Amino acid sequence: MKKLRQKLIYSYIFVTALSIIIISILANLYLEKGFNEYVSDKINERKNFVITSIESQYKNNQWDVNAITNIGINALQDGLIIKVTDTNGNVVWDAREYNHGMCEAMIRKISNNMMSKFPNFNGQYVINEYDLSSDGVKNGILEVGYYGPFYYNDADFVFVNTLNKIFVAAGVIGLLSSIILGIIISGSISNPILRVVKATNLISTGHYKDRIIEKSKVEEITSLVTSVNNLAESLEKQELLRTRLTRDIAHELRTPLTTLQSHLEAILDGIWEPTSDRLTSFHEEILRLKRLVGDLERLSRYDQETMKLDKEKINVKELVNQIIINFEKQFIDKKVQLISDIKECIINVDKDKINQAIINILSNALKYTPEGGEVIVKCYYEDGKGVISIEDSGIGISKEHLSHIFERFYRVDESRTRNTGGAGIGLAITKAIVSAHGGGITVESNINEGTIFRIYLPS
Ligand code: ATP
Ligand code: MG
Repeated sequence: MKKLRQKLIYSYIFVTALSIIIISILANLYLEKGFNEYVSDKINERKNFVITSIESQYKNNQWDVNAITNIGINALQDGLIIKVTDTNGNVVWDAREYNHGMCEAMIRKISNNMMSKFPNFNGQYVINEYDLSSDGVKNGILEVGYYGPFYYNDADFVFVNTLNKIFVAAGVIGLLSSIILGIIISGSISNPILRVVKATNLISTGHYKDRIIEKSKVEEITSLVTSVNNLAESLEKQELLRTRLTRDIAHELRTPLTTLQSHLEAILDGIWEPTSDRLTSFHEEILRLKRLVGDLERLSRYDQETMKLDKEKINVKELVNQIIINFEKQFIDKKVQLISDIKECIINVDKDKINQAIINILSNALKYTPEGGEVIVKCYYEDGKGVISIEDSGIGISKEHLSHIFERFYRVDESRTRNTGGAGIGLAITKAIVSAHGGGITVESNINEGTIFRIYLPS
């Protein structure tokens, strides 16, 4: 298989060479034909000029031989061999008599030039005869001999040769330009492609950090580069999440397991009594482990199931009120006030999943709002969409974290959330559920002032 670059350069050269060949053939056919007609016309003009010039040399019933000699010499230089005879058949002036050698040399030269230019040219020496007259009275005969049917003089050859040189030069310049242009254009296409190939090879071996920085003026290449860069970025993100997940799981498992191990060993060695306090603490550690496993299960379930929605028309008012009732005790226990302002709102959703999405946000609001704070739950219509807003007066989220909180396993304060047991997947699940419904979720927050989440669902 040929390389793209080679292929492009060859195509350029081929197209240019083809154009040059076509132009040369057309130029040869039409220019030469036109030029030959022009040359023939010129010869006729010259002959007519000689005829009228000689006719005007018959004065007082006799020929002015000196003047005719001048005309004859000039005509000879133009390739015409003339002979003037009077009405009695006497020769007045004959170029061959005047200078036979020069006439022969001139005809030979023209013949050789024409044969070398047109090897198939059927040229031969021709003689035309014309009556010479003045005032309607014939007073002589003019014979004009030349190499026919037409011939090129020196100036014509110079013109044709210059034209040919220009054609050759234009051809060579065209060919060279096409090679240079081919190299430049093919480079601008193939270099980024090679870079993309290199980058994708690197990506396939796990080097997600590598990005293609090559710029291209070709739109398709730019989009190819952008999509490969996007691919690398999302793979890098996934890789980061995976590493964090593994690290988190290991960390979460190690602490309760170590505690359990050391405490149990102390009991087995008879150092500790298996008191009910100690057993309760073991139980708590086991519960933490169970919760973690549950979280992981939850995540994998929602990852797979977000697409499978069991939709039905529900009144969000009823759903949200039910959730509020279930949460009431926890709010009272933590001394956080729960206020609600719920309007009738019918939407077409998967009830269980939306229930889960709202619970995730409401439980966060409770978790991250200290005692004495408040949480306001609202439900209303806006621009044909059902909106559920949950606002708290809690600790808030700083700007740098705000854009990440919907990512899986992202926790603003890792040590704190670990103590509270959160794995950082609640919001990721909520977002997946809302997106699967074709809705959206927004968040606004100010540190130490509070946070407001809004869920938009198409009705
Ligand atoms: P879980 O998986 O149990 O829900 P989590 O609550 O830590 O754990 P998310 O619900 O995904 O995880 O929330 C991600 C992070 O966003 C939280 O760790 C917390 O730092 C921050 N966060 C979420 N909601 C709030 C809120 N209302 N106020 C302050 N911070 C919040
Ligand atoms: Mg949460």
